[in-house]
Amino acid sequence: MNQAESERLGSLFEHLGYQATDTAENADVVVLNSCVVRQSAENRVVNKIQVLRAFARAHPDITLAVTGCLVNSDSAKLKKDFPHVDYFFKPGDFPPWVEKPEATMALPQKPSPATYVSIIQGCNNFCAYCIVPHRRGREISRTVPEVVCEVRELVKRGSKEVTLLGQNVDSYGHDLPDKPDLADLLKELNTIDGLARIRFLTNHPKDISDKLIDAIAGLDRVCEQVSLPVQSGSDDILKLMKRGYNTTQYRRLVKKIRDAIPGAALSTDIIVGFPSETDFQFQETVRLLSELRFDTVHVAAYSPRPGTTASRELEDDILPAVKKERLSTIEQLQGKIAAEINEHLLGKTVEILVESRVKGKWQGRTRTGKLVFFSDSREYTGQLVKIRIEKTSPWSLQGTISRTK
Ligand code: SAH
Ligand code: SF4
Repeated sequence: MNQAESERLGSLFEHLGYQATDTAENADVVVLNSCVVRQSAENRVVNKIQVLRAFARAHPDITLAVTGCLVNSDSAKLKKDFPHVDYFFKPGDFPPWVEKPEATMALPQKPSPATYVSIIQGCNNFCAYCIVPHRRGREISRTVPEVVCEVRELVKRGSKEVTLLGQNVDSYGHDLPDKPDLADLLKELNTIDGLARIRFLTNHPKDISDKLIDAIAGLDRVCEQVSLPVQSGSDDILKLMKRGYNTTQYRRLVKKIRDAIPGAALSTDIIVGFPSETDFQFQETVRLLSELRFDTVHVAAYSPRPGTTASRELEDDILPAVKKERLSTIEQLQGKIAAEINEHLLGKTVEILVESRVKGKWQGRTRTGKLVFFSDSREYTGQLVKIRIEKTSPWSLQGTISRTK
């Protein structure tokens, strides 16, 4: 979400006549887009703001602004803590010193082949550990015509793939007058000429409907890839987290998705070391991951966030060393599972959308989101190409081009 919002801000500034610089020291305007989902991310951005203090003092004519989830409703306190920052503005907002631009001004003139489109802001869930709803507010969906219009425009400017973004994309539309849902939106987007692929993230397991699963299975542009953050394999921890589902319901959902969408790639998020998590409860998470075998797992150690119910009501009682050990257990297990899943692709031919060339190698992704590298002297940006896989690892695949579409 932050990456997408940063790209949009960059495009807006280009539209206003600015050029990107390599370092903040060469800039007239510096905008820091902050993430505070964990304390470590918050520390990084606070540190960066402090580093820029001396620079801002020496160059009083530069504009220094901070956006993203660091910006809470108490901007007076932020202003007091960081007096050298000229502006604080909420995540997703436009810079306040710029006259309110039309939305298309923030679209890149020439987008990369794969672009992000935010469809719903905020979150209504209040999971016990999570700061996001406190900083991004309640869910606000963009209308179907607005999203369709933006995607058409992006396709006109060179995009072939869009990833629809939201904290909770599968609750899309409930706040709109005619209550369209994500399946309805996907159906509309699926008719756009020139758009080859549609992805979306993140889903909340309690909000995935049969209608949505049928839409993913039935619409040809919608990729076979579903993000489904589970957070824990223990029912007791899930209850403390206030996630709104248990592991039986979650397992049933995964089975339903896999039965309906053959070859679907599933990803999940895990928090280890949530308050009071016992070894046994952690092993339940290990068991769940071993059994369901996700393509990708994002794992984080629990970090208490001020203002959340978990930080108020539950003691952060799992020792850092234990959190670290649990984190590395999951990483090792998942490395092994992903290596085995990817090995099955050896010798197979996959279709990728080529996104860019990095250090002499073309890179792109399969419909299931797997990163693929190949070498070739010709130009492939934005093309769908077939690659025969010759080498695999847990994180990426390598191969040679077999046929251009
Ligand atoms: N809306 C998504 C994810 C939002 S935040 C969901 O419902 O899962 C992205 C990820 O950050 C979460 O999935 C969670 O694994 C992690 N995260 C959020 N708050 C955290 C915290 N306080 N400590 C550690 N990880 C956290
Ligand atoms: Fe945070 Fe996701 Fe829960 Fe919303 S659904 S509170 S964004 S973890």
